[in-house]
Amino acid sequence: MSALRHLPVVALLLVGCHWAKEPVDLVIRNAHIVCLDGAGTQAQAMAIHEGQIVALGKEHEILNAYRGETVEDVQGATVYPGLIDAHSHLLGYALNLAHTDLVGTTSWEEVVDKLQDEHANSSMPWVRGRGWDQNDWSVPEFADREALDELFPNRPVALQRIDGHAVIVNRHALELTRLWKAKSLPGGEILRRPDGTPTGVLIDGAADSLLTRIPEPSAIDKTEALRIAAKNLLACGLTTVTDAGLDVDDIALLDSLHKTGDLKLRVVAMANPTEPNFQAMSERGGWDTPRLKAQSFKFYMDGALGSRGAALLEPYDDRPGHRGLLLQSLEEYEAQLRRIHADGFQAATHAIGDSAARLVLGAYERVLGGPNDHRWRVEHAQVIHPDDLNRFRRSSIIPSVQPTHATSDMYWAGVRLGRGRIRRAYAYADLRDQLGMIPLGTDFPVEDVDPRKTFLAAVARQDAARYPEEGFHMDQALTPREAMLGMTLWASLASRMDTLTGSLEVGKRADLVVTNRDWLKLSDPHDVLNAQILKTFIDGEQVHPPVTSD
Ligand SMILES: [Zn+2]
Repeated sequence: MSALRHLPVVALLLVGCHWAKEPVDLVIRNAHIVCLDGAGTQAQAMAIHEGQIVALGKEHEILNAYRGETVEDVQGATVYPGLIDAHSHLLGYALNLAHTDLVGTTSWEEVVDKLQDEHANSSMPWVRGRGWDQNDWSVPEFADREALDELFPNRPVALQRIDGHAVIVNRHALELTRLWKAKSLPGGEILRRPDGTPTGVLIDGAADSLLTRIPEPSAIDKTEALRIAAKNLLACGLTTVTDAGLDVDDIALLDSLHKTGDLKLRVVAMANPTEPNFQAMSERGGWDTPRLKAQSFKFYMDGALGSRGAALLEPYDDRPGHRGLLLQSLEEYEAQLRRIHADGFQAATHAIGDSAARLVLGAYERVLGGPNDHRWRVEHAQVIHPDDLNRFRRSSIIPSVQPTHATSDMYWAGVRLGRGRIRRAYAYADLRDQLGMIPLGTDFPVEDVDPRKTFLAAVARQDAARYPEEGFHMDQALTPREAMLGMTLWASLASRMDTLTGSLEVGKRADLVVTNRDWLKLSDPHDVLNAQILKTFIDGEQVHPPVTSD
């Protein structure tokens, strides 16, 4: 295809006058640019003005035609469109980050040291941590609050055990939640010192009582958490992420952070299906700014496979007679779908089991009535009955999948599903064949945010230790190109953002990532874990590494 698609510029080029070069904000040169436009286009240089791609082409074509206020020589590095996570939980991830990770601590002293390091200067009102297990400690016993009281006399501390069934807190936390003087709590236990005062360890119902009394983080806390989260995500090359389930107040917060410039990351926000959200979204038409797309609702049809909550057509192999759970009344669900469809909104429904998927497909078919361009989605789509596969194609329904779920679940999913069903689970190639595309995500914070891990799981279907040796059902693997399209153009299509993002094309926003390896040409897909994200740009602005103004 023509490398230079900007006609007025070609005219200038023919005149050949140096002074006639068109001034632009940014020229990226000396690059291996993989456009991922679905046509295999590549380029060596690109011109960007006012956040938009104005030209892509060969090095000399771009350099002869454009004078960049900034010229970025990337020294032969690879440039892809900014990466997109099609299913994730931005706010949940952000708030989790503020919790100190205590998984793998080997002593109570180590826990206390970690808290001191991470929280001494933080502004979050509560000091939170999670993941400790006293069985891993040098003294394998529940700790006493003494060290926490010394370190944080005026700030409440709550540290959840790895299984969530116990919490260690300080005196201030107990006083603030009015549990200091509690005699007993239903379904739980308050451990006590010989003098009768609480040790700070609360078990089961007592732990729950405390945790539910911790106030919802304020908008200021959320803002701070989002700022830290965005920094991590941009460093991974992500320029757009999803929040699959937010209330309108939080969507409005994201919008305000975009407006003040505190948040650069593009966000696709799916609203929770509550009455206040239905009303507010309908009244204001959702949000549709270049950085925030809130034009969809997230529903839940069933639970998860691990806890045997996914709704299956036939009983679980490891629990006779049990078929999982439906979380929705079908009449109510379909009425809600019709309601949002009338406003032009998109539906995305969590369906992990084949029974849940069948019900969702049926409801979508009745509401959509055949081929369409509404881009309604089935989230996870982990087990699909073969009879239902082509219903995705027939009604233009998009399966949205998370390859790292396959490599996290592969150790035990076969026990739940049995031999026959595991063969048709996590069937990404079959699902891709339906519409010729498949958007990829991570479901972070459930899985790691890192797109390199998604790539590896999709292509090699192995864990980082190369298990299983042959790959997990390799007939369902995606090619490297498909994995990249799944994290760019296809993810953008699934979020109705493809006029702006998802590929490097003239007229689209200049979201891009510079990496030191071409992920499409790795002889060993595991090498992707050695690829570095050198720079990330949104709207032609470098957002990683952060540019410090002087
Ligand atoms: Zn999710």
